[in-house]
Amino acid sequence: MQLDPLVKPRSVAIVGATDRPGPGRTIIESLGRIGFTGAIYPVNPKYPTVLNLTCYRSLTELPEAPDVVVFSIRNPLIPEQVRLAVERGARAAVIYDSGFAELGADGARLQEEIAGLCREAGMPVCGPNCMGILNPPARATTYKQLVMETSGLAGNVGIVSQSGSVCIAMLSDLRRFGISLSVSAGNEAVTRTVDYLEYLIDDPATKVIATFTETVREPERYVAALDRAAAAGKPVVVLKVGRAERTQRAITSHTGGLAGSSRVFSEVLRAHRAIEVTDLDEMTEVLAVCQGARWPRGRRISVVTGSGGLAEMMLDNATAAGLDLPPLSPAERSEAERVIGRITGDGNPFDAWGNGNYAVNLPHAMAVVDRSDRVDAVVYCADTGNDAHLGHPDRVLENVRMLVAAAKTSSKPYYLMGSRPGVMNLHQVKALRESGLVQIGGTRQGLGAIDRVGRYMTAPKPPRSSARRPPPSQLAELLAAKPGRRTINEHDAKRLLAGFGLPVTREHRVATLEAATEAARELGYPVVLKAVADEIAHKTELGLVAVGLANDDDLARAFAQLSARMGRLDPPPADGAFLVQEFLADGIEVFAGVARDPDFGLSLAFGIGGTAIDVVRDFTLRMLPLREGDAEAMIAETRGAALLEEFRGRPAADVASLAAALEALADFAWQNADHIDEIDLNPIMALPNGRGCVVVDALIVARAEA
Ligand code: ADP
Ligand code: MG
Repeated sequence: MQLDPLVKPRSVAIVGATDRPGPGRTIIESLGRIGFTGAIYPVNPKYPTVLNLTCYRSLTELPEAPDVVVFSIRNPLIPEQVRLAVERGARAAVIYDSGFAELGADGARLQEEIAGLCREAGMPVCGPNCMGILNPPARATTYKQLVMETSGLAGNVGIVSQSGSVCIAMLSDLRRFGISLSVSAGNEAVTRTVDYLEYLIDDPATKVIATFTETVREPERYVAALDRAAAAGKPVVVLKVGRAERTQRAITSHTGGLAGSSRVFSEVLRAHRAIEVTDLDEMTEVLAVCQGARWPRGRRISVVTGSGGLAEMMLDNATAAGLDLPPLSPAERSEAERVIGRITGDGNPFDAWGNGNYAVNLPHAMAVVDRSDRVDAVVYCADTGNDAHLGHPDRVLENVRMLVAAAKTSSKPYYLMGSRPGVMNLHQVKALRESGLVQIGGTRQGLGAIDRVGRYMTAPKPPRSSARRPPPSQLAELLAAKPGRRTINEHDAKRLLAGFGLPVTREHRVATLEAATEAARELGYPVVLKAVADEIAHKTELGLVAVGLANDDDLARAFAQLSARMGRLDPPPADGAFLVQEFLADGIEVFAGVARDPDFGLSLAFGIGGTAIDVVRDFTLRMLPLREGDAEAMIAETRGAALLEEFRGRPAADVASLAAALEALADFAWQNADHIDEIDLNPIMALPNGRGCVVVDALIVARAEA
């Protein structure tokens, strides 16, 4: 659908226009204030004129087909009016009123009735339950709030919000950026976030896109739009709410329970180069950073300040947030100290007060870090507010002058940062802007915004080349041999995985004690005895795992016990048997798995702690296919990764083999993607360095028939 008539209309009809206060009047006033040059058609059978404009009795009486019709009327009256709008050839509609799908079945029916009419007519619709659309560069508005001030309103930020109140919040702070378009999309009965995204990607006035999203509709189109935005060099900043995990699907594996929709969505955003933020402070700071003439080309930030206290606070915050503040090198340090005097800490944040001659020291500090090839962005932290009660007025622009001078001789982005978000001096903001620099705020939010944009600017690693190999068909064959098979037991799953290069335990599947004893002697004691059957996804709960069996007697006792327990299962497993398996005594238990998200497909999970994972929830996720370097990064990112290093006299674990196993699992899952819903490898034993890792337990859940 063509969005132009909706987002930059040349004529606006207002159904429910009135002289009385309310949206029916506000829109007309706002159109006047924003400098709208097109035709305005008030529609209301009650009045001959509204605000001195000719008022029409009905949409059908308009002298031309309007670009957009806004409906400032209550919802029961809307379907009939929409019908008239379609009849008159209107090209788009804005519906403000609530009481539709957000309220339940009756509202949903009414909404669908309207949406059906508009879709059939090829008419884009904003709403219902929305604030409308504001387009300052086009001097057009159907936004419900009165346009009060137009200077500084137009800019390069495109906003799409499913919440009207978030639109109000975003538009209430336009000190550092203006907007190219602001859409309060409401219930998205017809036109959706992804449609506006598509529009903004092609809109030359838009440089960065900010979205507030409760529900992602049409996930495939959404992801494709993110890719297109990345290719166009326009960051999409995403604030997604509803991040508390609720599992609504039936799930068999541990991984399925861990890879909830919110964690998966974050990974989808990462994989498709969108910038995720968690609140409006973070959002606003990212949009501010994007106003700079230069953007950080990496994530390494150097912070200069004149305060030891601020430096310590920033270091604490930056460390907790995982930000990269590289310390000064010894050479940089001695060059800095030559002029400044003694520097405390590791020089980042860099307390450049030194001998107190700040007019010399601060520029020198910035010159030193600017020359470092380990620094992507330079920040100067100093607080000033508007209408300050204290401080010499002449000093306000001194910091700006110093920053501008430093930035002039550099190719890196420079920022002035206040220690709180939202506190700033507008004279500074304006003076910085004139030199292509920006004010940011909040040691977490401001520095975090540089980090996010720096990550956006770092080209993503390519997908792993092996991920593109054609799929082999063993899994498909296995499933075809037994129609309706949903879970694939440990033994069969391991055979499949071994075919992909995953190291698995040496083991034998047996039915009798004689065969078990022979297998144990062949493997060498100690061994493990387990029940194995497709129907038994989790064995320990049923007492069907016996570890550390040292000899024939132990084995016989365990065999008798497990046989009895298996015999009591109701219903009894159809193909129940036993596994005799090598016992791995000196490994660290980790887990890896795959889960399918109904919207976004397969993800890979990795965590430390084997069975404790459900409680500890220390795990990382990536969407498939994996990219180069993902496997190593996943392992390093888990909090428990330290357990894999040398620890209390225990040797370091074989992390390289773990990474290789993760890649093999990812390849297996990706190449069999059509047939897999979930995989659990839990545990994988990470053995001491040089001895690899071994998959001890495996479960594959085949894809449920759609
Ligand atoms: P479940 O179906 O209950 O997950 P597992 O096969 O994972 O069964 O076994 C349960 C636990 O027993 C494992 O998490 C691991 O701690 C231990 N275990 C199982 N097999 C072995 C083995 N071959 N070597 C060492 N420990 C094992
Ligand atoms: Mg297990």
